[in-house]
Amino acid sequence: MIPYGRQCLDEDDVAAVAAALRSDFLTCGPRVGAFERAVAEFCGAPHAVAVSSGTAALHCAMMALDIRTGDEVIVPPMTFAATANCVLYQRGTPVFVDVDPETLLLDPAQVEQKITPRTRAIIGVDYAGQPCAWAALRDIADRRGLALVADSCHAIGAEDQGRKVGTLADMTVLSFHPVKHLTTGEGGMVLTADQALAERLRLVRSHGITTDHRQREQAGAWFYEMTELGFNYRITDIQCALGLSQLGKLPGFLARRRAIAARYGEALAGSAARPLALRPGALHAWHLFVVRVDDRDQVFSALRAAGIGCNVHYIPVHLHPYYRKTLGTGPGLCPVAEAAFGQILTLPLHPGMSDADCDTVVAAVHAATQGDRP
Ligand SMILES: *Cc1c(COP(=O)(O)O)cnc(C)c1O
Repeated sequence: MIPYGRQCLDEDDVAAVAAALRSDFLTCGPRVGAFERAVAEFCGAPHAVAVSSGTAALHCAMMALDIRTGDEVIVPPMTFAATANCVLYQRGTPVFVDVDPETLLLDPAQVEQKITPRTRAIIGVDYAGQPCAWAALRDIADRRGLALVADSCHAIGAEDQGRKVGTLADMTVLSFHPVKHLTTGEGGMVLTADQALAERLRLVRSHGITTDHRQREQAGAWFYEMTELGFNYRITDIQCALGLSQLGKLPGFLARRRAIAARYGEALAGSAARPLALRPGALHAWHLFVVRVDDRDQVFSALRAAGIGCNVHYIPVHLHPYYRKTLGTGPGLCPVAEAAFGQILTLPLHPGMSDADCDTVVAAVHAATQGDRP
């Protein structure tokens, strides 16, 4: 089976983790800050706060904005559930706004229509690794006084109009799950240019306990206080050792992903499996290679039977039973995402794939879609 995604680890990654295990710090040590600084530098962001998962990073972002009961946060439905769940963790209300039919990215024109006096923030998702229309979202957020959050869990290394992911929103969330561009096993990060937000992120990451050194100096070295309800969302030095080692290979991983996407694009041009549209001025990070087919379930089964680990990203979040039950959402709320859901198929894409693996996938796609309209 060729999996849709998987980590790419070498012996030097193993050695980096072993060195962390032999060091004085398993957590709260120097590798955490080193990893934060290295990712911040790669993305061109002034501050970075590393946490235990992408989901924890999203939750920290909502806590840093003080999202609470009654607050509305605009989210797209074509994403992993965590994008909307983080709003629910704070007892806020995720408001689903439909996506563009060609790119499946949050549609700025529809965002404007769903803003109410209770709206506090917009979360854009760089679906599949392609950046959203960030300039348009920034303009709306600024005019309406809203915070702008990027769920860029698919998109480290992507750019929009020459500006890097990590600099396009007030806070940018990354994930280091094994299927993502680089991995720490589990892990995530929030990037921001706002020092006050960075401080709040660090506070809620670790129980809401202040470690302000001036206070410690006044009251004694033992001093700490809990000023709000935070969590233990810390990441370990063991994980950050892996992250640092992986980050050095990220340019190569991105280049390989882009080469595979280009190979797929050429091989599938004019076929019945139609890749999603590319936004002008966007540099794609290619986390996922998504095609649309007429009979998705039939093509899915045929590919799986042929040993191709294709997948579906995503069932629109507002269609999950939990959302239907608690928010009363359902079919008809986001018709573009719902129609796309019946057609989308994710083909395998990860840096460990050879050209021959790509060609195997393409041949299986051609065979599975024979007879469908081109
Ligand atoms: C992976 C992912 C997350 C969650 O990240 P974890 O590290 O798995 O918690 C959130 N949003 C999107 C779009 C993702 O792909």
